[in-house]
Amino acid sequence: MGISLDIAIAGAGPAGLATALYLKRAGHRVTMFERFEEPKPVGSGLILQPTGLTVLADLGLLDDILALGSRIDRLHGADASTGRTVLDVRYDAQSSHRFGLAVHRNALFGVLFHAAQREAISIETGVEIETLEAGEKATLICGNGRRVGPFDLVVDASGSRSKLRQSLGNAGAPRPLAYGAFWASLGWRDDRFDEHALTQRYDKASVMIGVLPIGRPEPGAEKMAAFFWSLKPEDADQVRTAGLDAWKQRVVRLWPEAEAFTSQIDSFDQLSLARYGHHTMKRPAGRRLAVIGDAAHSTSPQLGQGANMALLDAAALSHALSRTNSIEAALEAYVQARRWHVRVFQALSLAFTPFYQSDSVALPFIRDRLVATVAKIPPAPQFLASMVAGTVIDPFRRIGLREARWDFGQNPDDDTNAA
Ligand SMILES: Cc1cc2nc3c(=O)[nH]c(=O)nc-3n(C[C@H](O)[C@H](O)[C@H](O)COP(=O)(O)OP(=O)(O)OC[C@H]3O[C@@H](n4cnc5c(N)ncnc54)[C@H](O)[C@@H]3O)c2cc1C
Repeated sequence: MGISLDIAIAGAGPAGLATALYLKRAGHRVTMFERFEEPKPVGSGLILQPTGLTVLADLGLLDDILALGSRIDRLHGADASTGRTVLDVRYDAQSSHRFGLAVHRNALFGVLFHAAQREAISIETGVEIETLEAGEKATLICGNGRRVGPFDLVVDASGSRSKLRQSLGNAGAPRPLAYGAFWASLGWRDDRFDEHALTQRYDKASVMIGVLPIGRPEPGAEKMAAFFWSLKPEDADQVRTAGLDAWKQRVVRLWPEAEAFTSQIDSFDQLSLARYGHHTMKRPAGRRLAVIGDAAHSTSPQLGQGANMALLDAAALSHALSRTNSIEAALEAYVQARRWHVRVFQALSLAFTPFYQSDSVALPFIRDRLVATVAKIPPAPQFLASMVAGTVIDPFRRIGLREARWDFGQNPDDDTNAA
């Protein structure tokens, strides 16, 4: 679009910050609204897949994030009682240059936030966006009744519990998933763990323990790990009442090496309880409104795609706005560009989660016996690798990106990075 628009973005998470960077650079006037007094990341760590890394490369932020994260080549999971490998996915099974990058949430947030500050993007904090009125222009209504606007376009990047998307009428709400997890960010211990792998132990599907090396939250800080223990949120109080020592003993009984991490936990206050929900908006757009990231589609982190999809949405929306002549056409182009990638990954996530986090006895049995065997026979390793990488269907072509290729720690090859 050849004109400069007034654009409001609700939410300064990965989706909102990446969108703000794209749109400010495209010449639009961007104002962000964030409910926190201080913008801050929530949670422990996550894996940036080749999809999310490509978007960060497109934004010129790849070196910054590579300097902080931990390269992940492999996802490895074993049955806690037998030690038998039941999950072994290698990024390079499909394409030799690929890897994931596990990062502390602070690292991803910091890289995007500092870039937004460098570009003088206006962020109003302590503002809770409730809804919008859309006509010739859009006006945002805040929690205290304040009205802000007018805006040509509003971007809802306010996460899975978005209030703003309710203005679309039939947007729905995430369906709570049975299992959540305790998460902690702890010091990295590399004597017994692979610094380039997500390592997990399972007891049927009711227990999943994981260790993910996540590099440094900020330059100069110590290396850290995300440690997680899956459980039903409704059981959390019972676990707390039974006491920290009882829980730690249970973890170490199932996975003795995990003592390197449980020994760093002195209080349940170090463990945040994450609850997961699943929803996919049929049409993440309305009059003068684009819904992106978790506000448009949230799920369990089993396939580790959420933040990556949020970054892809940001790139898709900005690409759509640059290629069309009206806001309506841009919103339609955004919806079409992301439709199938989002749907396929939401469906895969919903299908795979119960194999790892459910009360089922049959599903983990199938996982450990059948899936573990079939997963070794081509093309299964290649399919699993592309599922984890987020590329089962091409996420790039329709949003004007080509997958970035680079050597870890070196600059991405400009020839392979097209905006
Ligand atoms: C435990 C856990 C592990 C995960 N692991 C992975 C992983 O390995 N890989 C991966 O890709 N993804 C992972 N995810 C998912 C990932 O965190 C999300 O998909 C991602 O953060 C979505 O980004 P977002 O910007 O859309 O939303 P969010 O990160 O939720 O950001 C939303 C922002 O909006 C603000 N906000 C909310 N409501 C309002 C309002 N009314 N007004 C103004 N501001 C508002 C919030 O304060 C927040 O800053 C994980 C999630 C969890 C919970």
